[in-house]
Amino acid sequence: LAEDSLKRIGETDDQLGTFLYKDEEGVRERARQLDERKGDLTPLSALPLGVKDNISTKNMLTTAGSKILANYTPLYNATVMEHLEKEQVNLVGKMNMDEFGMGSSNENSGYFEVRNPWDLNRVPGGSSGGSAAAVASNQVSFALGSDTGGSIRQPAAFCGVVGLKPTYGRVSRFGLIAFASSLDQIGPITRNVEDAAYVLQTIAGHDPMDSTSADVDVPDYLSSLSGDINGLQVAVPQEWMGEGIDSGVKEKVKRALQVLEREGAVVEEVSLPHMDYAVAAYYLLAPAEASSNLARYDGVRYGHRIEGENLVDMFERTRSNGFGDEVKRRIMLGTYSLSSGYYDAYYLKAQKVRTLIRQDFEKIFNRYDVVVGPTAPTTAFKMKEKTVDPLTMYLNDICTIPVSLAGLPAISLPCGLSEGLPVGLQIIGRPFDETGVLKVAHAYE
Ligand code: GLN
Repeated sequence: LAEDSLKRIGETDDQLGTFLYKDEEGVRERARQLDERKGDLTPLSALPLGVKDNISTKNMLTTAGSKILANYTPLYNATVMEHLEKEQVNLVGKMNMDEFGMGSSNENSGYFEVRNPWDLNRVPGGSSGGSAAAVASNQVSFALGSDTGGSIRQPAAFCGVVGLKPTYGRVSRFGLIAFASSLDQIGPITRNVEDAAYVLQTIAGHDPMDSTSADVDVPDYLSSLSGDINGLQVAVPQEWMGEGIDSGVKEKVKRALQVLEREGAVVEEVSLPHMDYAVAAYYLLAPAEASSNLARYDGVRYGHRIEGENLVDMFERTRSNGFGDEVKRRIMLGTYSLSSGYYDAYYLKAQKVRTLIRQDFEKIFNRYDVVVGPTAPTTAFKMKEKTVDPLTMYLNDICTIPVSLAGLPAISLPCGLSEGLPVGLQIIGRPFDETGVLKVAHAYE
């Protein structure tokens, strides 16, 4: 497995740009140790794993795709890494990403862009684009991503793999480099639904090191993959099947809904009345939280520093030089909307919209078991197509952001090709009902 993975990486990595850091020697060494070990193996034992570079890995570079953390090596593991190491996974390296998770195309990496294995002129999605492209191209068996507004689901959709964003609080964020703390969640990117269930089983659960981690029992996800969805109530928001969604995407999603009907599900159209405000609310709230979270990168506490005439000058030079354009844009947006004169008009208003969106979903879940729709309004777009205008990039998150604002679990899985490119089907569940989400996904797959 290790040699296969390294060989595949050797063949494809120059083109794809998926890895920010590779530990080839470590991979071989761990494989040797596992070979000798025999017995007490688990389903994940020895599987080559790629980890998004905003997840802390002990003694391994962790840059969050940013120059400002270019030489940062954590002294501790994120909780998810502790869980996975107990399963004896084989960590291959750290995956490329949009800087601090800010982006939908991986073109905002502080290092180099990632390309889509289906078409090298197209983006892999983002911000977990390195993770998704690595799984899609068989460089690794599975990967971890993080999702704040769609960053696991949208790249999974663009690369034709499975991506699961757990309920907010289901998986510990301890050791995840914070972007927007009230939204960030770590989750698996895998080749199929069963693998996603295995990985979630391993990383889910309460963690005293993360005060927002929920003390909720973790069910047996694998036993939920029964395939039986007879009588299941499926809601399809009309807003995600109308204007603004590519016709090729709609067609594949409609076909997927027919498959669910054939399996016995009851499919009905519903409405998410506050959908139109979700992207605007997110792009106030996420930058507001980011502007606060990113204050810690000041040239004192972490590696990158540009000396200055005095302390303030040093801060300014370090941050001007270490952060990329999109990160600076968000810090400015966030600082503005949190400033005293504008707080009520922007930040507070956006929080209220967030509540309305959560309530839209609550109402639907009073009657329906899952909400289904596309993961993204388009298939993978061309490189540079959306970099000139950040607003068009932001709009690509229209189907994933409302789910993040409501904190719900959701999976993206492939549902066919449109003009040769993968389309993602999104299945959304009630809070902490990853079981329901996995069950429907498995029945479809
Ligand atoms: N594309 C969204 C953003 O740029 C979501 C990113 C994410 O989920 N990390 O904020």
